Amino acid sequence: MRLILLGPPGAGKGTQAQRLVEKLGIPQLSTGDMLRAAVQAGTEVGKRAKAVMDAGELVSDAIVNAIVAERIDQPDCARGFILDGYPRTLVQADAVEAMLAERGIALDSVIELVVDDKALVGRIVKRAEDAQAAGQPVRKDDNPAVFEERLREYYKKTAPLTGYYYAKGKLKTVDGMASIDAVTAEIEKVLLETAR
Ligand code: AMP
Repeated sequence: MRLILLGPPGAGKGTQAQRLVEKLGIPQLSTGDMLRAAVQAGTEVGKRAKAVMDAGELVSDAIVNAIVAERIDQPDCARGFILDGYPRTLVQADAVEAMLAERGIALDSVIELVVDDKALVGRIVKRAEDAQAAGQPVRKDDNPAVFEERLREYYKKTAPLTGYYYAKGKLKTVDGMASIDAVTAEIEKVLLETAR
């Protein structure tokens, strides 16, 4: 199963991806997590990405495409993977298509979590508070000012992907404003329908 989760920052892609990992036994490939790990490790990619991420802008297509192309060749991706936060631009979407075609594999589904923008800032603030309460590091970009930029980037560069995948007959939408369990149930329903 090769799956893409689409939706703005704070839509719940990461939470749902983690649940799908358990359910489907395939890994979650979060480019955000991979980039944060690179920043933490101080790699060349991390050094180039850090300021861009802190500003809430998108890292270059070339960097993220290379990270994903390398990651999907790891053995744990052989049975499939869940792309979370990637692709985020039309260039990246074309890159995914080329990567999969080169490997002779198909994309099964693209699920968009549809959410109300007004709720998103609140979710991000809560995510930062929860991380702090759990003694975990708080993401530098999880604050209202940077979030505004992340949302602008989303509308400028990522939102067009819904049309891109709709035109390919791949897009499924799920109400991301429902409870976490209800969203998971809805995604599972969509996946069952896709498998039919
Ligand atoms: P996320 O954890 O998905 O919210 O991503 C955090 C940040 O990492 C984003 O605001 C971008 O700066 C960067 N990033 C993550 N995924 C991508 C991507 N597919 N393309 C470009 N930048 C990305």
